[in-house]
Amino acid sequence: MSTGLMQTPPLQIIDILKFAASAHARREIVSRLVDEPIWRYDYAGCLRRSAQAANALKRLGVKPGDRVATLAWNTHRHLELFYAVPGIGGVLHTVNPRLFDEQIAYTLNHAESGILLFDRNFLPLVERLAPQLPGIRAFIMLSDEQRHTPGIVNARGYESLLVAESPEIAWTRTDENAGAFLCYTSGTTGDPKGVLYSHRAVVLHAMAAGLAGAFGFTAFDVVMPCSSLFHATAWGLPFTAPINGCKLVMPCDKMDGASLQELIVNEGVTFSGGVPTIWTMYLAQLEKTGQTPATLQRLVIGGSAVPRAMAETFQKKFGVTVLQIWGMTETCPLGVVATPTPELAALGEEATNEAIWTRQGRLQFGIELKIVDDDGADLPWDGEASGALLVRGPWTVQRYFRMDEDAADQDGWFDTGDIATIDTHGFMRITDRKKDVIKSGGEWISSIDLENVAVACPGVKIAAVVGVPHPKWEERPILVIERHDGASVSEADVYAFLESRIVKWWKPDVVFFDAVPLTATGKIDKKVLRTRYIAALSG
Ligand code: ADP
Repeated sequence: MSTGLMQTPPLQIIDILKFAASAHARREIVSRLVDEPIWRYDYAGCLRRSAQAANALKRLGVKPGDRVATLAWNTHRHLELFYAVPGIGGVLHTVNPRLFDEQIAYTLNHAESGILLFDRNFLPLVERLAPQLPGIRAFIMLSDEQRHTPGIVNARGYESLLVAESPEIAWTRTDENAGAFLCYTSGTTGDPKGVLYSHRAVVLHAMAAGLAGAFGFTAFDVVMPCSSLFHATAWGLPFTAPINGCKLVMPCDKMDGASLQELIVNEGVTFSGGVPTIWTMYLAQLEKTGQTPATLQRLVIGGSAVPRAMAETFQKKFGVTVLQIWGMTETCPLGVVATPTPELAALGEEATNEAIWTRQGRLQFGIELKIVDDDGADLPWDGEASGALLVRGPWTVQRYFRMDEDAADQDGWFDTGDIATIDTHGFMRITDRKKDVIKSGGEWISSIDLENVAVACPGVKIAAVVGVPHPKWEERPILVIERHDGASVSEADVYAFLESRIVKWWKPDVVFFDAVPLTATGKIDKKVLRTRYIAALSG
């Protein structure tokens, strides 16, 4: 029996690049590289070289379903592999180099990746790990021929493999539900867990992310992904940009303020995205040099809460709109984006800014949300009630890679581990991660809210709040502050700043000045902080 009157071609990732190579053939892709000159070509060129890479991988024996791993930065070569590997039915395992050695080896072995392609400055890491990687049968260095060094792993050179191959290929059509990317969570608890993105999930996610109510891309945009390609596919930007004909600017591993500013100015970047840490460094650079963000119009920031002061500075001082997003590896990763609505606009600019700057984002088509209490009962969307945040939809994980049990329930609801409120406008606000919530005298203190206030204090670069055991109140918050270079902000300054901005019982019991440790995905490492300061209040 017919299932409908429309066609049913499976959604395929390679079709995105094929589309861009015909509809936006000359649109540029510019890439910094580890220590080679800046690379420039266009979507047509990217398709040709992706085909060459795919032919080379086939020659090395890659078959549909096989995993191919990368240890690579945001470069055009990595981008080519984003298309070449799924284009021959393979699965690209984007290894996160910020994990510990044992975790990197664990993910490579767990994924059963057979080939590892790596950027040149990962050679020492690869050589160190090689004895623990019996499954890797070929190492390939992402390098030009001139600078290629095989090392003790006897790596082949990417460019010399490519020149031997034809730019023509019959791409492999796979089931749209077949795996295409394998991304591991950072494993803050236990071993990293693999999330296998299907072609269908990646394509639908990329289409949704470009919508006007999300990133709002047009062919005039120049997009520079500063979230890592190895971390949940850089929020899908390597797909959303070509779908919309945007110029792509790849910053490699050079995420410092000066390098980003140079690319923004020289390439006319209009849109970028990354974790707050990167934009803290970027704002410090502007402050230091007196420069402005030139053509930059919009910034998506997520991965951890965007400090309100950061969003305000970008908007008010530089006219750059900050779109906060929330998501996770398990959601491909886009969950919600903070964009305005007419209803909000009617309340005035201040109310709109407040909503956009202090909430993680607004409900998007394709990802359903709900908040529930401890018994699993639905909580109201009144902006007050907070509970466990559950999500579901076509780009939400059902089961982790090679696990025996589902991660989501039978209706598809996946518990994110975050605590959130949702308001009548559909804006979601994360108040904490379950494991980071501070329970003081039976009441909750939101570590994120407290950090947000503290980070706005002049001289504060990073503010981290964790709960430590307290003999009377069970837990009390302590505040750890990393100062801006040269700043002299004191404990008294911080308390004076907090006083009028928080309720009394949220006042941190102690303020420490220290370097704030970050996790492999650039979030404040609260586990380390809790261990470091666990005895802070015992006496
Ligand atoms: P990890 O591997 O560290 O879990 P993810 O990037 O998948 O890496 O982390 C997802 C988590 O990051 C979310 O569950 C949430 O706790 C946090 N997060 C992401 N975006 C935001 C945001 N805008 N505000 C606050 N927390 C966020």
